[in-house]
Order: sequence, then C-alpha cells, then structure tokens
Amino acid sequence: MAKKGELSKTARASLAQRDDRDHLTERTCAKCGQRIMYKELLPVKVVNKGMVYYHKSHYTLQ
Ligand SMILES: [Zn+2]
Repeated sequence: MAKKGELSKTARASLAQRDDRDHLTERTCAKCGQRIMYKELLPVKVVNKGMVYYHKSHYTLQ
C-alpha cells in the first residue's frame, strides 16, 4: 500500500517536471535572436566570450 502511494507520487512529480521544462527562458538564440524554450535551450561555452545560447535545432558544429 505504502509503495503504491510512493509510486504515484513519483509519477506526479515527473509530470510536473515535464511541465517545468516547457517554459520560455530569458535566453536568446545567438543565431536567430528569438527567446528559447527551456527544452530547446543549448548553452555553448565560447572562449573569450563566455556562454552563448542556441535553439538545439539552430546550433551547428562549425
Ligand atoms: Zn534559434
């Protein structure tokens, strides 16, 4: 019984986490200039420049 309760709690938590990933962040894409959804966010560390951000689909290896 207790185990069943824990399982459903975990399932609910993972659903909430999935919702969390679906929000717009303050980061803008270095390629297109649009703000990036959390689940699309790809941080890239650039030497002498720090972190830049891309949509996962807009980042291409040079
Ligand atoms: Zn983009």
